[in-house]
Amino acid sequence: MSDLKLAPAKNPAERLPHEWEAVLSSWGEPRYRALQVFRWINQRGVSDPALMSDLPKRLRERLSADGLMQLAAAAETHVSEDGTRKIVVSFQDQQLIETVLIPRGSVAPDDIYALQDDEDEPLTSDTQLTQCVSSQVGCAMGCVFCASGIAGLKRHLSAAEIVSQVQLARSSLTDGARLSGLVFMGMGEPLHNYDSLVRAIVLLSHPEGVGMSLRRMTVSTSGLVPEIDRLARDFAGQVQLAVSVHAADSDTRSRLMPINKKYPLPELISAIRRYPIPRRRRLTIEYTLVRDMNDSRAAAERLVKLLSGLRAKVNLIPMNSVADTTLCAPDDPAVDTFQRTLRDAGIDTFLRRRKGDDIAAACGQLALRGASRKVKNEFAQTPGPKL
Ligand code: SAH
Ligand code: SF4
Repeated sequence: MSDLKLAPAKNPAERLPHEWEAVLSSWGEPRYRALQVFRWINQRGVSDPALMSDLPKRLRERLSADGLMQLAAAAETHVSEDGTRKIVVSFQDQQLIETVLIPRGSVAPDDIYALQDDEDEPLTSDTQLTQCVSSQVGCAMGCVFCASGIAGLKRHLSAAEIVSQVQLARSSLTDGARLSGLVFMGMGEPLHNYDSLVRAIVLLSHPEGVGMSLRRMTVSTSGLVPEIDRLARDFAGQVQLAVSVHAADSDTRSRLMPINKKYPLPELISAIRRYPIPRRRRLTIEYTLVRDMNDSRAAAERLVKLLSGLRAKVNLIPMNSVADTTLCAPDDPAVDTFQRTLRDAGIDTFLRRRKGDDIAAACGQLALRGASRKVKNEFAQTPGPKL
């Protein structure tokens, strides 16, 4: 991470301590104020200068004039019967995204969200939560089974907006609950918003901020090859990688995911094989099962071949239903056969249970109800990924 080059901060709320130092010293403030301001924003989750009670009034006013403000608010919170909590987040321009908190306690150890390879922290009796974070409003990748893809890209989130989801989640934690992992699997393609993603990861892992270790963050991608390589370089493989494969032959994959036309499967697999995976860790391969598209035994056998020799586990996700498409999940026997075919070939394969179903918190459903009409029109104009 030492030679990681960050794009400039777009917003005061996303400055790092050394950047605060430069700004504050140009205002004639003492050096120690930099960490004080950084901690308010990143440790306490407060970006409104008016609330920074131990700063002198003139500095608070200067920070406000500089544009430092609270960027996000929880517009709605939905709590599921299984403890999953979905927060609808609204930003300054009224755009909405969703972020989901998933209790690890209630999660089977084989679930994607149970980062079972962890060795750096003992288990506690706290309720541990994994947060699923959004990186964009909508998504440009156009995957045909995904609500965000059908919606199309509205805009990228800034690093500060990505971090603000975690701050809102932290402020909603009840006693004994702890945020123990982040997965960039909400709305959007995180690697399409690379600069903001990386700055958000650096902010979130900063010891004077949230202090989340890189190994507890998982970036899920539909397969943007150059950015997979950049992520590998920027964090030396410490950030966990999950790759949405969804088909082991290029034709099917292109039909499900237009990004495959830009970065075809063989290129993607080479990039995955180059990704430096730390000892005792493995990649996650995501495979959304769509009826009659990628769910046959032959498709499973092709996947076995494709993954041969890779240190990876597979998460199978029967497709969650999404408005505006007739695609759907296979029936249970087909899912079982698919899973068994992979397991029999020695690949650790887990069926991802649907969490928060009653509050539509599942993957691919993180979109705005009521917006689906408009969404469909936009999709008609944006059939493929715009990179
Ligand atoms: N853009 C990234 C991360 C967000 S999507 C990516 O594609 O990996 C996170 C996961 O949810 C992906 O594996 C995606 O394929 C899956 N997903 C999207 N829509 C889904 C749906 N309707 N049912 C099941 N999984 C879905
Ligand atoms: Fe975008 Fe991921 Fe949805 Fe594909 S699955 S459209 S990449 S959010």
